[in-house]
Amino acid sequence: MTPFPISEQTSVRFSDPLPAEADVVVIGGGVIGVCTALFLARAGQSVVLLEKGRIAGEQSSRNWGWIRQQGRDPDELPIMVEANQHWRNLATQTNRDIGLTQGGVTYLADNDAQMARYADWLPVAQAQGVDTRLLTAAETRALLPGTGKSYAGALHTASDMRAEPWVAVPALAEIAARAGAQIREGCAVRCLDLAAGRVAGVVTEAGRIATSEVVLAGGAWSSLFLRNHGVALPQLSVRATVAKTTDLPAVAAGGVADNRIAFRHRADGGYTLAPGGFHELFLGWDALRALPKFLTQLRADPFGTRFLPTAPKGYPDAWGTARRWSGDAPSPFENQRVLNPQPNTAKVRDLKRKFATLFPQLPQFDISHAWAGMIDTMPDVVPVVDRVSALPGLTLGTGMSGHGFGIGPAMGRILADMVMGNPTGHDLTRFRFNRFTDGTSMRLGPAL
Ligand SMILES: Cc1cc2nc3c(=O)[nH]c(=O)nc-3n(C[C@H](O)[C@H](O)[C@H](O)COP(=O)(O)OP(=O)(O)OC[C@H]3O[C@@H](n4cnc5c(N)ncnc54)[C@H](O)[C@@H]3O)c2cc1C
Repeated sequence: MTPFPISEQTSVRFSDPLPAEADVVVIGGGVIGVCTALFLARAGQSVVLLEKGRIAGEQSSRNWGWIRQQGRDPDELPIMVEANQHWRNLATQTNRDIGLTQGGVTYLADNDAQMARYADWLPVAQAQGVDTRLLTAAETRALLPGTGKSYAGALHTASDMRAEPWVAVPALAEIAARAGAQIREGCAVRCLDLAAGRVAGVVTEAGRIATSEVVLAGGAWSSLFLRNHGVALPQLSVRATVAKTTDLPAVAAGGVADNRIAFRHRADGGYTLAPGGFHELFLGWDALRALPKFLTQLRADPFGTRFLPTAPKGYPDAWGTARRWSGDAPSPFENQRVLNPQPNTAKVRDLKRKFATLFPQLPQFDISHAWAGMIDTMPDVVPVVDRVSALPGLTLGTGMSGHGFGIGPAMGRILADMVMGNPTGHDLTRFRFNRFTDGTSMRLGPAL
């Protein structure tokens, strides 16, 4: 099997020297950090983006590549509509083909009850002018002519898109660099440098940078980073397995999911396949601490999570990972440059079988590679995008809960404006940090 396109072995592409000071330091070179740096640089800020491993080495390259409005939380949807526009613009500003394609997203329904759940989401789409509609059984058959299976119908959004994430996010980083962002891979931020109770800089493995504004976009590492500063963020990371087929003819234009499998055609000719509604949680101290806040989610989907007793060594929530450290010695971030979890091989075999069964007319194919990513998720399955009042000068953009790739450019634009003290253009109340502690009752984002 071919290896995943971005790993610790990938050559360093961004190696700017560290400045002594900057207006803003962004921690984490995933789609959120990259887009934040991009919009800050465009606004004329001096910005440094620091990535412990490789740009997009973790979730931001490992995802399915769906740029999806469909099924979003009502408070996320206007942001996602904005993100679609950014994607279209940014795709014209790269010198690479990021595979941006408007093929739509389709959720297939096994029965009328599922169709009714889909119908409940239509007013959310209509409120934002999104073109989502219900397809009848006949329309669904016409959309997927090659399948032997019949469905009760589907939820379909024609304006949804896809892109190749391992190409797209590094390409966005190149745009940010051209706009003036200084980007450095292989440079972990060990901790914040605090003075008089507020951010005065960051301590990195390559030295200190003075700054009064830091954005933490650390994905699956954000909770660990904050814990070292005494701030609790109830965030868990779950392993999600993905596989790629050898080249196959197109059986559908866009992203498609039923209750068992999700798939989309890729620019390189294969399919990206993933199991529907399945992920694995490695138990560790943070998981145990946060689990009570996740009970609503676990009750709503009792069979979606499989529990595993121990995370691999060096993972953010492995039993042996340090929870406290200082800036003058290597931190857990330097011990694990790129989270590269092993995929679940039984699921990979199962994906091949399910896809072949769903499209019996397809020629023989193989799985050419399989990989996994650690998804950072919040108890209510929506992100945290907020200033951290306990650490003035720190802004948090994390917990994208499995759907941060598509929305990333707009979240980056919002975080940039938040840091600069500008209006963000959206109601972000839903994404505030203190919702887990201010007595608000849990409202789960739609599990669509
Ligand atoms: C299998 C899978 C499928 C998915 N499918 C989709 C999809 O189809 N559509 C969609 O919209 N979303 C999808 N997602 C979710 C999406 O990929 C994530 O929400 C998004 O990439 C999160 O971006 P991020 O920048 O917050 O985090 P990440 O991409 O995880 O980036 C965080 C970065 O911070 C770095 N970092 C952490 N701590 C430090 C530190 N102290 N110093 C320096 N660097 C640090 C890490 O190395 C990492 O590179 C999927 C995710 C997975 C794993």
